[in-house]
Amino acid sequence: MTANRAATIQMMDHLDARCTISGMTVARTRTKIVATLGPAGNTQPILERFIDAGVDVFRLNMSHGTQAEHTKTLAAARAAAQTKKEHIAVIADLCGPKIRIGTIDERNDRIDVGDTCLIVRREIDGDATRFCTNYPEVVTDVQIGQRVLIDDGSIRLLVSEKTDEHLVCTCMTGGRLATRKGVNLPESDLSLPSLTDKDRSDITWAIEHEVDFVAVSFVRRPYDIDQVRALLDDGGSDIPIIAKIETPQAVAAIDAIIDTSNGILVARGDLGVEMDVSRIPLLQKDIVRRCGRVGKPVIVATQMLHSMVESPMPTRAEVSDVANAVLDGTDAVMLSAESAVGRFPIEAIAMMNRIADDAYEYEAGLMRRPRTLLSETIRVGEAVDPTRSSVARIAALAAQDLDARLLAVWCRSGTTARWISKYRIDAPIVGLSGREATCRRLVLSYGIEAMLVSEGNMHGDAPWRDVETLLVRRFDLEPGDIIIVVGDPEGTGREATLRIEPVSGT
Ligand code: ATP
Ligand code: MG
Ligand code: MG
Repeated sequence: MTANRAATIQMMDHLDARCTISGMTVARTRTKIVATLGPAGNTQPILERFIDAGVDVFRLNMSHGTQAEHTKTLAAARAAAQTKKEHIAVIADLCGPKIRIGTIDERNDRIDVGDTCLIVRREIDGDATRFCTNYPEVVTDVQIGQRVLIDDGSIRLLVSEKTDEHLVCTCMTGGRLATRKGVNLPESDLSLPSLTDKDRSDITWAIEHEVDFVAVSFVRRPYDIDQVRALLDDGGSDIPIIAKIETPQAVAAIDAIIDTSNGILVARGDLGVEMDVSRIPLLQKDIVRRCGRVGKPVIVATQMLHSMVESPMPTRAEVSDVANAVLDGTDAVMLSAESAVGRFPIEAIAMMNRIADDAYEYEAGLMRRPRTLLSETIRVGEAVDPTRSSVARIAALAAQDLDARLLAVWCRSGTTARWISKYRIDAPIVGLSGREATCRRLVLSYGIEAMLVSEGNMHGDAPWRDVETLLVRRFDLEPGDIIIVVGDPEGTGREATLRIEPVSGT
């Protein structure tokens, strides 16, 4: 019997939620860290260090690099997670209908104020004097007097002349061009499709390689998400979809887009060019709050520690930005160029981790004092499922009232665990699932850790004791510590249950 029971439970041998980075012990934070992968981190040894420094989710930006490169990086990421015995999710971020410049020769990549350059129709190897884009019609559609913004608006050009074959531009704000940097045309009316052939091919790649999330760029309406969902369905896949909010149209339809997708990414890079940059902090707060009400994960992204691309220390403003995103209630904060091409990727991850951890301590302190705070917050998920949303809220309340050490939540899709996470209670939420893919999908959400268990033959009390044993080891629990247990293993038919389980004495 004992041997049989032991066989019913497997777990990733994750006994130690703390890890070491350059001699320091770093606790894994409640706020999740997403790191974009690129040349600065694409091999197993480096990605193991990324995980040690606190990364929970890797992002592959399909706009850069080839599918073959992403396949290699993904394999390295999976192997690193396996070695580190952590559930790590991977997001494949689709390019979407984004105009990007072509190749740029690094030996002549600098453009200064007053310089002239040509944007040409035909495909060429470019440099700072002339380059092409992936959308030849730019030359037709952009008019004299309109702006061409490059790399999230950091380089600004003004079209001064045009022919059938090229645009002549004058540089208004200079900088270094680089291959495949993004182009925004705020005054031009281009009718781009929402999904390109490359996106379709990347979706097929994402299904074949079983990534954990697909992110959709330049979403304008819920239909853009439906289209990706249909392609995933056709491929027999239920990969959750993250909508990147980076256009005014998406901001206008925000609730419908949140409803249609499984998560949201506040893509401040393009958003800050497509809309007034001064509105970014307010849009961020508003979007994070809306995701909180319906219990969907949200990621705040772009330039969070941007100066760390070049410098080992961030600016004070960047540190404040990360902390404020955490205090806004985001599930995750993201690194872009810092981890993809920066000089200090590990330092950037560790720094993000430290800032998030300090913000957590502050927030947890506030939560501990006035006990009424939680009961006054909105009821997450009420519109979707009143029963489960109530169970989720009561679980969070009970955890707070009883100073529970943790909540153990049996997960099918993980919705209840995600709803509980939005109350941002002090105790960790442990999502229990028999599916590795579910475990990986859970770790994007604030405060959720995942534990892989086999749910076969899980009836009766004995299996709970086995799960309890694993939790006691992993979280150093003591007899009498309270665990709030939500739901039951698959097949027991008691999904919407809640139990209060003191850790047994033996
Ligand atoms: P998006 O709008 O999707 O964020 P982006 O061009 O801003 O696109 P990020 O993912 O934010 O790209 O990454 C920042 C920069 O890091 C990119 O502009 C690119 O120069 C570099 N980068 C990212 N991923 C890769 C990669 N796989 N290979 C090479 N460079 C990369
Ligand atoms: Mg970006
Ligand atoms: Mg973008």
